[in-house]
Amino acid sequence: MERRRILILGSTGSVGKQCLEVVRKFPQKFEVVGLSAGSNVEELKKQVFEFSPKAVHIANGNLENVDCKVFKGESEFKNFIEFVDFDVALCAISGSAGVIPTYLCALKGKRIALANKESLVCAGMFITEVAKEIVPVDSEHSALFQCLRCVKREEVEEIILTASGGPFRNREDLESVTPEEALVHPNWKMGKKVTVDSATLMNKGLEVIEAYWLFSFPYDKIKVVILPRSVVHSLVKLKDGSLISQISAPDMRIPIAYAISFPERLELEGNFKLAPLKIEFFEPDTNRFPCLKLAYQSLKMGYPYPIVLNSADEVAVEMFLKGLIKFTDIPKIVEETLNRFNGTAPKNIEEVIEIDKVAKEIARKVASS
Ligand code: MG
Repeated sequence: MERRRILILGSTGSVGKQCLEVVRKFPQKFEVVGLSAGSNVEELKKQVFEFSPKAVHIANGNLENVDCKVFKGESEFKNFIEFVDFDVALCAISGSAGVIPTYLCALKGKRIALANKESLVCAGMFITEVAKEIVPVDSEHSALFQCLRCVKREEVEEIILTASGGPFRNREDLESVTPEEALVHPNWKMGKKVTVDSATLMNKGLEVIEAYWLFSFPYDKIKVVILPRSVVHSLVKLKDGSLISQISAPDMRIPIAYAISFPERLELEGNFKLAPLKIEFFEPDTNRFPCLKLAYQSLKMGYPYPIVLNSADEVAVEMFLKGLIKFTDIPKIVEETLNRFNGTAPKNIEEVIEIDKVAKEIARKVASS
């Protein structure tokens, strides 16, 4: 493999940092050419010092005394992307803030290593249209991507996403869940938004929509199963009843490395022990965790409703983390926002952003009423 030029969007976040760990291990295979971060100036500065990119972008803050070209603020993001020549862009900005950055990277006609699921949830129709190649980083989708390469499409009956079920699968009282409790994920080390989403099962709902765009299966062919230990990362069910899966330790560096090195595999020292290992599957309980049901409902309603679902969830999770609403209010706010929103499918990426804004306003109103 020729040395690949990597651009990392969201470099100071959890996925961004783990990507840099992979790059650090394989300097002969990868070169960091660009880094973009939100507001963690100190961390970004350290990264610039270590990896010497050609350019950096900081959304909020000021980066001085670094030996590369610096782009600042939302307004200079487009110039930053135009300036950097890359082979792979790791899109790992959290939330709907990542939609336009992913789209702009996709327009460059290079590989997108996609960690920002909101990009496809909100703008799947536009991003899949312009992107040359998308390799998913989300562990479940990475698993499906790998499994689907082994079979013929006409052999596939359905695809099945695995979910940990979150920390409250067996908890009776969900009303009293605190932000601190929701931020402890049993298996994965991730950012705050996605950790809370895992606890409500909204993360799995968004992943169903992500899979819908990545693999073009109708939503009734995309299923979810609960597996409390995240070692089986998803399954492909074939017409003869066989199931194909990818199994590994719950370590995000594995799908990150795969997405930037594909079709090659890197030698990562895995300490995953197969025995003893107990695997138990359960059906998801969508009465106690209605967010998953709402995600399917939004797909059934059609666009723009999956965008509205995501916007309302972002508002609700933010308010929950601030202690303003209860854990059990999150699905209620999402459901009511879906009911109140009235609109048609976006015709371009700008309309996606507009729908997101309007839906967030409605969600805030719903939350405060
Ligand atoms: Mg995932």
